[in-house]
Amino acid sequence: MPEDLEYTQDDLAGLIPSKEFFVGIDSDGCVFDTMEIKQKECFHPRIISHWGLEGVEKELRETAEFVSLYSKWRGSNRFIALVKVFELMKERASLAESSVTIPELPALKAFIASNLPLGNPALKAEVERTGDAELASLLQWSEDVNADIAETAKNIPPFRFAAECIKRIAAHSDAICVSQTPEEALVREWSEHDLVRYVKVIAGQELGRKSEHLDLAAGGKYPSEKVLMIGDAPGDRDAARATDALFFPINPGHEVASWELFHNEAFDRFLAGDYAGEYEQRLVDEFEALLPEIPLWDK
Ligand SMILES: [Mg+2]
Repeated sequence: MPEDLEYTQDDLAGLIPSKEFFVGIDSDGCVFDTMEIKQKECFHPRIISHWGLEGVEKELRETAEFVSLYSKWRGSNRFIALVKVFELMKERASLAESSVTIPELPALKAFIASNLPLGNPALKAEVERTGDAELASLLQWSEDVNADIAETAKNIPPFRFAAECIKRIAAHSDAICVSQTPEEALVREWSEHDLVRYVKVIAGQELGRKSEHLDLAAGGKYPSEKVLMIGDAPGDRDAARATDALFFPINPGHEVASWELFHNEAFDRFLAGDYAGEYEQRLVDEFEALLPEIPLWDK
């Protein structure tokens, strides 16, 4: 684990229950309205400039917005999302005649398959171990994105009701932040709004996948009906499912209404043991209807 990280996997594994309940909270697009600015102003322009895709900018932006914001891949780890964007770009009929080459990125695919944490520290270690030029270039892109985010995504407050909910969550449960964002950005954003005090660990991409965060922090420590994951993406739902936790969706585009529902009703139901089943399923169905799998341009 790199030395400049404040939190480690040992903090997750060493978490000792002090409350009856456990809640994992995603950050981007869930607590903070940071998804659009980070994706549209930082990630997507850097994909275009780094891989020389200026000739297909319109399609690249449309594809990247679909993957990272408006589809079932919303909230995916940046490296997984990048592979998906290029995969969909290759399938786009309108680009068949284009002279622009969409990159294959075989070394990235191997990195993803390696089960290493999909963050810059593990990627940097792989660059040093293998000397691979593609991975070195990928690391540069990822570092450039982080620098852009630090410069651009500032002073973005939590969604209305979110901070109040986090305080209530912390009063009744052991809470952690569960994210695929780099820790440095998470600590900056949660500190900026004085939310760090309400969570025991801030787990970013360097500490592994979201299901690993939940498993390390809560696995075997709480009854599964007392573990809840809150998030705005299918990956949050999947992490909850993989660890037998319950899931509360923050609906993309309707975040404030979701937090208000959590505040006025859903959290009380969770605490009362009355959340699982029909109630949770109805919320998950509404959430899933908002995030399609088939791109608009294929219809
Ligand atoms: Mg999110």
